[in-house]
Amino acid sequence: MKLLEERIRRDGVVKPGSVLKVDAFLNHQMDVALLDALGAEWARRFAGAGVSKILTIEASGIGIACMAARHFGVPVVFAKKSQSINIDGDVYTTKVQSYTHRRVYDVLVSKRFLGPADRVLILDDFLANGCALEGLLDLAAQAGASVAGVGIAVEKGFQRGGDALRARGIRVESLAIVDTMDPASGAITFRPDPAETAGGGKYPTPPEQIP
Ligand code: 5GP
Repeated sequence: MKLLEERIRRDGVVKPGSVLKVDAFLNHQMDVALLDALGAEWARRFAGAGVSKILTIEASGIGIACMAARHFGVPVVFAKKSQSINIDGDVYTTKVQSYTHRRVYDVLVSKRFLGPADRVLILDDFLANGCALEGLLDLAAQAGASVAGVGIAVEKGFQRGGDALRARGIRVESLAIVDTMDPASGAITFRPDPAETAGGGKYPTPPEQIP
């Protein structure tokens, strides 16, 4: 998505250790108009996919998910990073290795808010090695919910998470895919977006939408 790529080029900062800082507009200070545009784009791409709930993980997924939810007209559930283990059995839990904090979190979702009737769209700000996404997919599987797909703002295409999910047949819609980034020069290259190239998108019109 050109709008997001241009913003990353303008305000993103490439850090050593394959970290891209986007805290000027995405996950610390938040440009709400930009987030709204991301939400509209996922709503366009997942139109007809039957999304009944958006699932994300705290903290930085929440703002993005809430703006997107306005376009889908569905609730947001976010997986909480828990401080204590739950012994009541009223939650689904899984473990997530944090890319930026280099530690493992227990994360949980209440059984009241995710179940077999749900069809979830999983959203997050970044996709790197896919640990956060694996955790969210695990929670959805435990709940018996079906997964319409995954929406990511910034995928680092040189790390394995996105392509590993696609190889499993999971639909991943990343709005910007960084192919290379150089901390010395700050240069960033993006993977061409098939949804924006001439001749139509990567995905055919869903059958429900064909008149
Ligand atoms: P993964 O679990 O896919 O390895 O990493 C995704 C999670 O780590 C995201 O939820 C995001 O918060 C964080 N993350 C991974 N890479 C980056 C990065 O380059 N920049 C920022 N700001 N966060 C990242």
